[in-house]
Amino acid sequence: SRQGRERNLHVPVLLQEVIENAVQANVAGKVFVDCTVGAGGHCQKIMELGIFSRCIAIDKDENCRKFLEESNLTHSVRFVQGSFAKIVEILTQEKVTSQDVGFILADLGVSSMQLDNASRGFSFSHDGPLDMRMDLSQSTTAWQVVNQSSEEALGNIIRELGEERKWKRVAAAIVKERQRNPINTTCQLANIVCNAKKERARYRKIHPATLTFQSLRLFVNSELNELNTFIPMALSCLGPVGRLAIISFHSLEDRIVKQTFKEYAEKSEFRILTKKPIVPSEEEREVNIRCRSAKMRVIERYPKGNE
Ligand code: SAM
Repeated sequence: SRQGRERNLHVPVLLQEVIENAVQANVAGKVFVDCTVGAGGHCQKIMELGIFSRCIAIDKDENCRKFLEESNLTHSVRFVQGSFAKIVEILTQEKVTSQDVGFILADLGVSSMQLDNASRGFSFSHDGPLDMRMDLSQSTTAWQVVNQSSEEALGNIIRELGEERKWKRVAAAIVKERQRNPINTTCQLANIVCNAKKERARYRKIHPATLTFQSLRLFVNSELNELNTFIPMALSCLGPVGRLAIISFHSLEDRIVKQTFKEYAEKSEFRILTKKPIVPSEEEREVNIRCRSAKMRVIERYPKGNE
């Protein structure tokens, strides 16, 4: 089935490394909070260990509910649609106290199911509407950003969130094009970017539109803001000797994780368990292209007097 195929597509990244961190935390009988459950790859393997009493599985994407329903973990996993930036409200509503929380995982970005589903509009290799929302109940779409932002605002997005060197040309080309006709699809946008940069997709290892698409996705889903809100919230939800692990996929995200962990480790009862981020092994890199930029950082609540 299409669902089955989609389910098989998302390969959980750094799975062994995530599991090792989960088992080393103070977990017996505690709650595992999967903040980005996706297709449930990490969630399933972690719950199968049998050490956590239950799991609160969060995702912005309502479609994740059905992936979990297909697994046989429904008795111990509770799905909540929402942003992980709301982790405090979500756990309160689920009657989980911070004493109960042993392990929190956030595996950032989009899933293969989202990327490969043309109708979600995340990808320049599958033509679809310019959408890019992880949360389909949200009103702002990539279409609005592309067709309705000022040239200056678009330029800022592409420069700051995409770190695209040719941001000015790309923004100007988008604005010029949309004066004639609205830009409706991902392939249309990708072509405009290629032309603006005078680069052709098939001659390059990395598609010329990659950074522009990344910037729009980050903007539409407020990804960096949500990450900034999330980390302090998640740390406040962590029980004694509980751990928070975050897997990021590009430098803008990793910088936020690294700096926020550092601040907390300096001033309060936390210690960083990853001086250097954990990255995928050679073997994993060979079998899963998507994992290549992954970096995992882990921090632990370490009550004073335990030293
Ligand atoms: N670990 C999952 C697995 O093994 O199947 C894959 C997770 S996938 C890389 C990232 C997921 O996080 C996507 O499903 C996306 O919708 C979700 N997501 C991203 N940002 C989010 C946020 N701020 N709040 C909740 N979910 C978010």
